[in-house]
Amino acid sequence: MQVRWNFKLKPNEGHIKQMSQWLITLRKHRNYALRERESGYNTNNNEIETPINYAGGAFSDIESRIEYGSCCPLTCPVIKHGVMPPEMGMAIKTTKEKIDKKTGELKPSKLLWDCASGIQMKRTTQLRRERENFAAINSDVLQRNIAKLDTAFTNFWKHGRGFPKYLKSLKSFEYKPGQVKIIEARPTYGIIYLPGVGEVKFHNSRDLSLIQAIKTVTVKYEGVNWYVSMLVDIPEELPEEKPISECKSVVGIDVGVNKLVAVSDGSFVENTRPATNSRTARRLAIRQRAASRKRNGSKNKGKAYKRLRRMQHKIAQKRDGRNWQAANKIVLTADAVGHEDLNIKNMVKRAKPKHDGQGGYLKNGACQKTGLNKVILDAAWGDLFEKIAWLAAKSGKPVVKVSPKHSSQECPSCGHVDKKNRDGEKFICVECNYTSHADTNASRTIAKRVGLLFPSKTKKPRSVARYEAISADCGKVTPMEISILNGLSLGTIAYEESYVQLTLFNVAEYSLPDSRKSSKYGRKTGESPSL
Ligand SMILES: [Zn+2]
Repeated sequence: MQVRWNFKLKPNEGHIKQMSQWLITLRKHRNYALRERESGYNTNNNEIETPINYAGGAFSDIESRIEYGSCCPLTCPVIKHGVMPPEMGMAIKTTKEKIDKKTGELKPSKLLWDCASGIQMKRTTQLRRERENFAAINSDVLQRNIAKLDTAFTNFWKHGRGFPKYLKSLKSFEYKPGQVKIIEARPTYGIIYLPGVGEVKFHNSRDLSLIQAIKTVTVKYEGVNWYVSMLVDIPEELPEEKPISECKSVVGIDVGVNKLVAVSDGSFVENTRPATNSRTARRLAIRQRAASRKRNGSKNKGKAYKRLRRMQHKIAQKRDGRNWQAANKIVLTADAVGHEDLNIKNMVKRAKPKHDGQGGYLKNGACQKTGLNKVILDAAWGDLFEKIAWLAAKSGKPVVKVSPKHSSQECPSCGHVDKKNRDGEKFICVECNYTSHADTNASRTIAKRVGLLFPSKTKKPRSVARYEAISADCGKVTPMEISILNGLSLGTIAYEESYVQLTLFNVAEYSLPDSRKSSKYGRKTGESPSL
């Protein structure tokens, strides 16, 4: 199995100086290569009257003689032929003779135009002879730099990503497989050999003897620390995923901003808001302001930004740790996990402007929406889902994505879907008076959509006799007989203990049809939008 392992490096001053210098050169190299391809693309797509300034005429396929200069701008192959080499010899490559595996015929070698990355890689080899700062860098790191730009272009053409950007700062470089070696492995630290940099110590947190082969290695500068990220082969294999029909229990999770996760067994994961809690948000704003106010190019500015980076890095680490803990807790709860298939990208779009019809604008709640977006991004749901998927895969449990449609409005008891079912943090079905915490209810609806029963084993406080009688997560959503509470008929309540378990609700209060408006917990007008 291939896994990615990250370690924190302990470089000395010489290493730091060397690697920082590399990053500067590599960034310039990448930006130059991008500019070269872009200008190549632009000249390729000129009008037919404009002459194309290639030394050997317009780039064309040698065999078919099709000129690329006359292509449609959308199909013009930027990746293939967007670079003008100084010598035309560089633009040509010969393929090797090959035996076709299917037919067994010998394919003769061909003369072809080389692709842009091929040309630029050849040019890079020349640059290493001409320039000192290029010569200082390991040749494969330079080649990987071009390959990474290729990936950016492929993402643009094939996967709908943005056009590759010119980088203001580059944060990482890569080694090809089989170059980096681990020289020493101790329980607490190890020594890694990075070609061109030297032998660097790192904090060890894994069993390094498991490594069968080291594949691609990336060295990263994050915050104020250096990290090494290795793709390694280890003998362990992922267990086979259990088919959903064999799972005995399922846990549904509903993610939100007030509570990070509501689990269908009735428990919650609190949202710690690593970056948006008032204390951190204030401090972050102070640091950002201080840094941007320093004079450009001064040492103080550098120091201030370093301080800011350190803080941002710490926040990211806190979020990461919290998500691992939450994911672990969720995966251990049941045999299968169900969560909503959210489109988070659309959820954090900014508020649309409202026109008043006279050339002006009306208030559109943009400020509130921006605040909510920050909190959503800080919650990092996507990251949490990824972590759940990985931990579940490691224990062979299936993860099911269900439709998020009306998950917070659907009554699990009678299936009635109504916006009025929601009242702030509470869920009260207008049809059958079923009551529950809104988030827990949503998570149960999600679990129900997966099509399995709820988990049946959860720790509950022994002191409360009521909990003993009816487990909080028995959750089979079996409607119970009409019960009488304080002389009021409640109709069918699916969840009898709900008024015991969640003290927030006074069920009697909600059995009256119009009492909701006067509720002190209810949603009031003018409150910030909640999910
Ligand atoms: Zn209902």
